[in-house]
Amino acid sequence: MQTMYQKMDDAELASALADLKAQVAEVKARGLKLDMARGKPSPEQVDISRPMLDLLSSSADLTDEGVDCSNYGCFEGIPSARKLAGEFLGVPAEQTIVLGSSSLNIMQDVIVHYWEKGVPGHTPWHKLEGVKWLCPAPGYDRHFGLTEDLGIQNIPVRMTETGPDMDEVERLVATDPSIKGMFCVPKYSNPTGVTYSDETVRRLATMECAAPDFRIVWDDAYAVHDFGEKPEKLANIFDFAREAGNEDRILAVASTSKITFPGAGIAFFGSSPSNVAEVASTLKVGLISANKLNQLMHVRFLPTLDAVREHMERHAEFLRPRFACVQSKLEEGLGGTGCATWTHPNGGYFVSFDGPEGSAKRVGALCKEMGVTMTPAGATWPYGEDPRDTNIRIAPSYPSVEELSAALDVLVLAVKLVSAELASEERA
Ligand code: PMP
Repeated sequence: MQTMYQKMDDAELASALADLKAQVAEVKARGLKLDMARGKPSPEQVDISRPMLDLLSSSADLTDEGVDCSNYGCFEGIPSARKLAGEFLGVPAEQTIVLGSSSLNIMQDVIVHYWEKGVPGHTPWHKLEGVKWLCPAPGYDRHFGLTEDLGIQNIPVRMTETGPDMDEVERLVATDPSIKGMFCVPKYSNPTGVTYSDETVRRLATMECAAPDFRIVWDDAYAVHDFGEKPEKLANIFDFAREAGNEDRILAVASTSKITFPGAGIAFFGSSPSNVAEVASTLKVGLISANKLNQLMHVRFLPTLDAVREHMERHAEFLRPRFACVQSKLEEGLGGTGCATWTHPNGGYFVSFDGPEGSAKRVGALCKEMGVTMTPAGATWPYGEDPRDTNIRIAPSYPSVEELSAALDVLVLAVKLVSAELASEERA
């Protein structure tokens, strides 16, 4: 599609450029300092979980179903927390482990475990030449960092409106035994906000893989993070996988980082019975037991998935006006210009924005010059390399609506100026 600037005649384009440059100079003079870089809840959002901190005191009962949470023991996590983990991940409580505060940390531990020791019965991945990993993109930069850090080659697979391009995924995994795994954020994906369709979930669980030790990191980070009118439903991948005899393929994780306190929540791991036992055998070497008092505090505050959903409804009240602001500002500023497309998520923490080809890095730099920090352009692709340089992740949760509104004006202006410059360069 052509942008409005490509459609202008030379005189119109020159005048539009001059006008946009003048607006940019004006904004620079204002000395703004706004941050839309990372998906963090706002301080007011975090505050709604403060009552949880009052639930444990020096006189509180520190046992959970007979387990003493104030001492060593119960490595897999306290019973109530494992029940909750099972509800989150769609597996029986016995197929879960509740660990520290970070799901990213669990993902790293598990991948490193297979890297060093291998999936039982198979060669450790570190002994193989050229191990590869599929990375739906745009995707989550910290995922890509986990495999990149080990020297695993990240291979991007394009995201569609129903999840990763499954024809491409199936083609790759069927023929290449060095592809050992794949990252998935199946609900309100970071950053597109896409929830994988039932068909995508089924295909992932049942596809033929050349590597018998292929693993899917099923990161359900946004399992309950709805703010749209109708919560989207994600199929249970374990149901499909079990039926196909592939339950070992699925490594599910989630955490309460964006439910209670980021960095101080509880994190869940769920997989097949044999995977859970085998992964635990290594984790146990370095951990006698996780912070069970934190687990206890969490389950007293949020004993069931229904309680979690009620709590999330309160989070949604903070997120709704912010996401509405993004939509209205982008529509108002860029709707009908042919300069951009963006997603309209019903949950999660991000809007994925695409400008003209070759624009994203320049837009990011220009926003920075105008005082607005965005997630670095390219971050949503492995190695920071967005092949078309179009994608920008918008993270609207942290700033106030007022700040967000000002930041989006800056983004819109930057996209317009870069689009006009690109149109002008094309003619030169
Ligand atoms: N997975 C995804 C998809 C995320 O977006 C985030 C946080 N931005 C995380 C994991 C990190 O979760 P945790 O705090 O549990 O490590």
